[in-house]
Amino acid sequence: MSGSGEGTILVVVAHPDDESLGVGGTIKKHTEQGIQVDIHCMTGNSERNAELKQACSILGVENLYLSERDDFAITKDLTNEVVGAILKARPQIVITHFSDDYNRNHQQCARIVEEAVEWASHTTIFENAHRVERIYNMEINTLISRPNVHVDITDSYQAALAALKKHKSQIKKGGFFYEKLYDARTHLRGVQAKCERAEAFSITLPEHAGPFYRENSVDLLL
Ligand SMILES: [Zn+2]
Repeated sequence: MSGSGEGTILVVVAHPDDESLGVGGTIKKHTEQGIQVDIHCMTGNSERNAELKQACSILGVENLYLSERDDFAITKDLTNEVVGAILKARPQIVITHFSDDYNRNHQQCARIVEEAVEWASHTTIFENAHRVERIYNMEINTLISRPNVHVDITDSYQAALAALKKHKSQIKKGGFFYEKLYDARTHLRGVQAKCERAEAFSITLPEHAGPFYRENSVDLLL
């Protein structure tokens, strides 16, 4: 059931700037290797979407699914929209927020994505159903207590920081809070991952899609 998007990544975020702040170094690292990374953003307006486009050109992202919606308008109603993005992009993996993030919009986004990944996999509902292999949950405001994986972003950190700075309407807030946070967090994760800078993720396996797919079956356990 793999589609045209095999080997590609879809990043689903709540707000313009989350892509750079949470996963910018990882996105850049993958696009530099020729791996396609698409972004679906749940909220935005003309100013913030223009900033997001500039950030994405630095990160090497070509396909952007933008929205014109207030920051706080993230509700379950958006599930179908995310299902649509998954069926169109057909990604092998999805990167999104961490469900215990401090920001409630981020929590809601993570839950919507998890549900959308499940719906998109239902062969009994969609003729073009698509099974996402796994979800990576990223950090923004809150550190994941037990990350499953760190990505070494030493070489792509500067590009990610440049992308973050394209969000001019946000970057000065809180005394350059976001820039300081990204600097401190990627440095801390780098210490843990034995490199200069890293981004950390937890992994959510969409095991609920299991009954429908051969890929979730094995012949032996080892
Ligand atoms: Zn956000």
